Amino acid sequence: MTVEANVGPISVVSASAGHHEASSDRDHKFLTQAVEEAYIGVECGDGRPFGAVIVHKNEIVVSCHNMVLKYKDPTAHAEIVAIREACKKPNEVKLWECEMYASCEPCAMCFGAIHLSRLKRLVYGAKAEAAAAVGFSSCIANTGLYHKSNLEIVKLDLSIAEQMFQKFSLS
Ligand SMILES: [Zn+2]
Repeated sequence: MTVEANVGPISVVSASAGHHEASSDRDHKFLTQAVEEAYIGVECGDGRPFGAVIVHKNEIVVSCHNMVLKYKDPTAHAEIVAIREACKKPNEVKLWECEMYASCEPCAMCFGAIHLSRLKRLVYGAKAEAAAAVGFSSCIANTGLYHKSNLEIVKLDLSIAEQMFQKFSLS
């Protein structure tokens, strides 16, 4: 089952001019994968429309989605699931050499986990407000935490990331 078959053509809006030009294509590719994961998670009934991908150098280590419904676990957010799955990898992936791509700005719990896992970089698509606006109130980010962390945080403009919340609304 391909994602394209479920969600139709994917349109990608390029990042704001001047920012991270060199890594822009790469970032769009991995962030698109995270958004596709979010769609998969909803369509197979595992959870809410959130996806997260962990990348080591240029390779995807894990690609995960929200599992709160399947696991009956309110903490099974995509980012948490991705960190746990990456840690289970047999060749001991070093998380501090990895980047996370999250379809949506991580909530306070996930940001705490990302910080503790020492991931070196976070790229996200939709703003937390976009999720909160359609009923995912627990998604509100605590941007105060961002300043306490050393990791590089990039907000990428990717139209499909926010369009998701028009499609999968709780309200
Ligand atoms: Zn979260």
